[in-house]
Amino acid sequence: MKLHKASAAAAAALVLALTATACGGDSSDDSKDSGDGGGKIIIGIKFDQPGLGLKKTDGSFAGFDVDVATYVAKELGYDAKSIEWKESPSAQRENLISNGDVKFVVASYSITDERKQKVDFAGPYFLAHQDLLVRADDSSITKVADLNSKKLCSVTGSTSAQNVKEKLAPKADLLQNGGYSECLTSLENKAVDALTTDDSILAGYASQKEHQGKFKLAGLKLSDENYGIGLKKGDTELQTKINAALKKMVSDGSWEKAVTANFGPAGYKNEPAPQIAEGS
Ligand code: GLU
Repeated sequence: MKLHKASAAAAAALVLALTATACGGDSSDDSKDSGDGGGKIIIGIKFDQPGLGLKKTDGSFAGFDVDVATYVAKELGYDAKSIEWKESPSAQRENLISNGDVKFVVASYSITDERKQKVDFAGPYFLAHQDLLVRADDSSITKVADLNSKKLCSVTGSTSAQNVKEKLAPKADLLQNGGYSECLTSLENKAVDALTTDDSILAGYASQKEHQGKFKLAGLKLSDENYGIGLKKGDTELQTKINAALKKMVSDGSWEKAVTANFGPAGYKNEPAPQIAEGS
């Protein structure tokens, strides 16, 4: 029995040691090279959110988060060609950051106390609000209480899904997918009655050519979503540098330009640039 315990402890110690090695311990010898030498930087974004982070059919990337990330990377010493984009679905963002798979995440990523247990944030660099997207001919959903008798779709690991379950419509029949584009298909197919997430994301879907006239936003500001840039917990040096880059992006007019270019086509009325805080 004793022997058993001892060997279990030894095995646990070995696992710990191996984990520490695999993670690279500190960022200076990060074997995954997410941006500490080697000339490239890996940045997490969404791949399926038009207006924010979208991988286009030609393989290029576009959106406000892409522009913010590109600007920040440049300030950190990485030109656009040195960026490797990594798809970062909502539920995987904290893990991608803490595993060192990405240097930072710019992916409609709301700053929350719960997430701050695992990662740190620079920013905020954008303020959005949770809203609903419904089919254009549906007039049965005008307020949040209507959702309690409806089928709703959102994404695993998002604040949108959490808000529905905890406060907005706990009785709604909630389908949770890996990404919002999957919910959009469900909405179109009438498998669900509404899709809920940030208005910034919903406006992008509604304005896509293939969706025009099919959907409408309810126009409800159901929450405040302050987007931050997620980074490894404790990396205050990177956090300070990113905050400085974000401040510069706002003050030199690049932020406004990126907002107009990416949200303008969707007719999305954005909030003004938020105050970028130290140590978000
Ligand atoms: N901003 C919200 C969040 O961080 C919803 C959008 C998303 O899932 O990326 O969860």
